Amino acid sequence: MKSVILREKKEEYHVGKILCVGRNYAEHAKELGNDVPSFPIIFIKPASCIIYSGENVEYPPYSQELHHEIELVLLIGKTIRKGSIDEAEDAIIGYGVGLDMTLRDLQNEYRKEGNPWTLAKCFDTSAVLSDFVMKDSVPDILEQEITLSVNGQMRQQCLLNMMIFKPAEIVSYLSERMTLEPGDLIFTGTPKGVSALQRGDELQGKIGSLLSLNTTVA
Ligand code: MG
Repeated sequence: MKSVILREKKEEYHVGKILCVGRNYAEHAKELGNDVPSFPIIFIKPASCIIYSGENVEYPPYSQELHHEIELVLLIGKTIRKGSIDEAEDAIIGYGVGLDMTLRDLQNEYRKEGNPWTLAKCFDTSAVLSDFVMKDSVPDILEQEITLSVNGQMRQQCLLNMMIFKPAEIVSYLSERMTLEPGDLIFTGTPKGVSALQRGDELQGKIGSLLSLNTTVA
């Protein structure tokens, strides 16, 4: 069973489901040749995908195109069903930074045939997580910059307020359709700059000076 640590409370949350938003930054939608969506595009990862900062991402031998996607991750702290924006805001207890690792070649192949892209997103080690900070300790999360560097070179860099659907909107939207529970995680989408990785690459993801993670591609 996978869990995350909420730093200030030293409290551990067992991870339930991991919901992920696709194409939540206009420039990223464009770089992959997609339209900007009018509603959140949602997919899911199992908790078994999770590794933590300091552990290695395993490049699966059946893919030739492993991409990094750095994202703000929300930790749900209370059960919410059909929640308003205010209730959704209240249900978010923590923030982390995470990598939604993606097998882009498989994803493109599946999409072309109209098939689900599950296996492009759900391989072991495809969700890399930092620890989490209390939401209440960060009044200005959307004013923070999210960054991802590979071998010391900046590849992704964007203010979080460039998100199309903001955290409470995403949580409210999801809670209309499924119950969210304590320990559920939400990956909120990645800004532009996704790119292919090689074995041996060293990745560092950050949100301002609040959150950071490190991983190496093995
Ligand atoms: Mg993503």
